[in-house]
Amino acid sequence: MEAAKLRQVLEQIDGAGYKAYLRIKGVYEFPGYMLAIDHVQGDPYAAPSRLRVRVSQSEADYSASLFEGRVRRVALEDFIARAFARAVKKHVRGGGGTGKSGYVGVDSGGQEILERTAAVVNGDWVEVRFMVGLPADGRRCRARDAIRIFFDELPRVVAASVMSGAHDPDSVRQHVECAEDQEWLRGRLESLGLVAFLADGSVLPRLSGVSDQPLDSGRAVRFTAPPELRVSVELPNQGLVEGLGIPPGVTLVVGGGYHGKSTLLKGIERGVYNHIPGDGRERVVTRDDAVKIRAEDGRRVEQVDISPFIDNLPFGVDTRAFSTDNASGSTSQAANIIEALEAGCRLLVLDEDTSATNFMIRDELMQRLVPSEREPITPFIDQVRALYEEMGVSTILVMGGSGDYFEVADTVIAMEEYHPREVTAEARRIASRRRDRRLPEGKGSFHASLSRIPLPASIDPRRGRREKVSARGTDQLVFGRETIDLTAVEQLVDTSQTRAIGELIRHGLRRGCFDGASSLAKSLDCLLGDVAEWGLDIISPFSGPEFDPEKETAGAGAGRSGDGAGEAGTPHPGDYALPRRHEIAAALNRLRSLRVRPG
Ligand code: ADP
Ligand code: MG
Repeated sequence: MEAAKLRQVLEQIDGAGYKAYLRIKGVYEFPGYMLAIDHVQGDPYAAPSRLRVRVSQSEADYSASLFEGRVRRVALEDFIARAFARAVKKHVRGGGGTGKSGYVGVDSGGQEILERTAAVVNGDWVEVRFMVGLPADGRRCRARDAIRIFFDELPRVVAASVMSGAHDPDSVRQHVECAEDQEWLRGRLESLGLVAFLADGSVLPRLSGVSDQPLDSGRAVRFTAPPELRVSVELPNQGLVEGLGIPPGVTLVVGGGYHGKSTLLKGIERGVYNHIPGDGRERVVTRDDAVKIRAEDGRRVEQVDISPFIDNLPFGVDTRAFSTDNASGSTSQAANIIEALEAGCRLLVLDEDTSATNFMIRDELMQRLVPSEREPITPFIDQVRALYEEMGVSTILVMGGSGDYFEVADTVIAMEEYHPREVTAEARRIASRRRDRRLPEGKGSFHASLSRIPLPASIDPRRGRREKVSARGTDQLVFGRETIDLTAVEQLVDTSQTRAIGELIRHGLRRGCFDGASSLAKSLDCLLGDVAEWGLDIISPFSGPEFDPEKETAGAGAGRSGDGAGEAGTPHPGDYALPRRHEIAAALNRLRSLRVRPG
């Protein structure tokens, strides 16, 4: 349909009841692009309407080299979504009316470059999915403002963000190459004999406890590797970089309080994701199977074999298939480790700040007072070596409060005024001279059953007669009648990932990835295999109509299939971001209704 038709309808409905906006659903040809109005909100306070613009590649004109292969494509899509968000800030006036009137938004993400559905680039076209609060006066259409948005503001936004000509070619290329370098290095860490790399010059501290922006360069102490652990790597695009290479094994980070230990660890933890240029962590790269482990009392645990850490509980509770509705600090931390291993983790990341003390250590005095027969816990210190030697699982651990770990560490790094120093030999010497040694406890080897089969009937997205799945920030996922608490899942970084986890699980159910016979790990392979093959859009129960302006007429609606289109909270294909398998597993493991059988 011609764009003029949209203007005509808007002129007709100005001042009419809000539902009249339903007549503008459809696809319109604007000069240089197509506009799809896929979903129209029910009232001015409901979730905003959902739209897309699509520009043919002959107009947008991105060089194919910028979206060749998954990493480059994801980075270019990320760049375009961010540019769209910036252009909205510049060109859209916003406001002026009731509810969300005049709002225009795109899910452009935070400091990470994640695969997301906000923008799509391929050889034929570039598409941006976004939201608009259709303007209202009270509950009447304020359609003249909508005309301004569609015919004045949006064309400027598209010109300034979707077209390659609008961008400085260097900044597009840099964005793509920077992401490619990070992904490349992550893939090479193992062959370089490393589990993590932090480049000299990186800025690890964040602006504040509630902001993920870098601390401004005036106040931040830039990272410098200690000479003993300095390695150089040749990145495909940026060339030679030097920095700290953390080898496999057990790495201990020590140092006085407030000297930057947790900040270093957090950088490592987030190194599983690619970061945008200028973040300060865009050359901080960690194995992608690293999992942050912490204590999380109160969580539910379903038949997890925590026996390597906890045995002989009172009343003969079986810890080889341990279940509880209310885990303690130590049992939750043990379960978190076993579940991480089950999902394929090969690097554990722990901070004393968020660990249960009795899980981490039992010192020599306590060993004398309470004999180990009466202590169900084998502390982490007595399993950390077996984890590495028998299972190939490395650990990076912040521990400023106990020197007992000196004896089990391969590498010791001391943080001093935000500068790392290598102190392994010094720590060993101190440990060897000590008189009262703690005795190693436990079996001295690591055996756990690491496979469970989730029962599909226990994963139910229904609430009453309809399905309900939605995210509340990164911390909560509403799934059917339950609300999954993800507060302790620290590597979940984007609400759009949380939303995607809900839909991925739902997709897994529809698709039979949870079949009552496959292990949890296999089910995750199945889910993520689908995304790898078909793209993240497939998880939407609400996928878009094809752009065929001939078929669609104003007022007839764009004909989305999907359940419940038109209601607040309906999933939108434009606001998902890909989570890692570990965060999907974490959500399932925290679903209180989950039941499994041994696999
Ligand atoms: P620790 O875990 O050793 O107690 P933190 O990592 O929590 O210390 O850091 C303490 C404070 O110092 C935090 O406010 C943090 O933002 C700040 N900080 C950490 N690293 C740096 C740095 N490299 N430059 C400037 N400030 C930093
Ligand atoms: Mg700390």
